[in-house]
Amino acid sequence: MHSRSWITGSAEETQKIAERLAELLMPGDLLTLEGDLGAGKTTFTKGLAKGLGVKRNVNSPTFTIVKQYKGRLPLYHMDVYRLEDSDEDIGFSEYFDGEGVSVVEWAQFIEEYLPEERLEVTIRSIDEQTRKIEFHAIGDRYLNILNEMND
Ligand code: ADP
Ligand code: MG
Repeated sequence: MHSRSWITGSAEETQKIAERLAELLMPGDLLTLEGDLGAGKTTFTKGLAKGLGVKRNVNSPTFTIVKQYKGRLPLYHMDVYRLEDSDEDIGFSEYFDGEGVSVVEWAQFIEEYLPEERLEVTIRSIDEQTRKIEFHAIGDRYLNILNEMND
């Protein structure tokens, strides 16, 4: 299965899906998050962090671009929105080749630096509380993750 999707009715439900995903992640995994402002990319990352055992509160790293958290695995949380009109490389490969899990909000803005294999997560707003969360696996590693996730 290359793609899976869920409809969630609250931020908590979105976080639960991310938390379940987190249990299956390994060092070097990459998740890209796409979706409009307010769709729930940071909310999803908060759930992921919880699932990785991160104790600190996770906030949007828009101004710093990258924040790193300690958990069962390190979490590298990036928000590259500010790089929309730039081709600056802030040393992405250090993260993508690192021992942690990388999560990139607005990943489409750094397409040229992204490894091809990744789990693409797209979040669409249906209405104020409803979101469609779509996972699209690129590469065998991520296909396996999708197949291991229970409904
Ligand atoms: P982004 O990082 O994509 O800009 P945020 O995660 O910062 O978005 O904000 C999403 C907002 O939408 C939060 O205020 C969250 O509480 C709210 N929200 C409402 N319903 C949902 C849902 N089903 N899933 C995720 N977020 C939701
Ligand atoms: Mg955000």
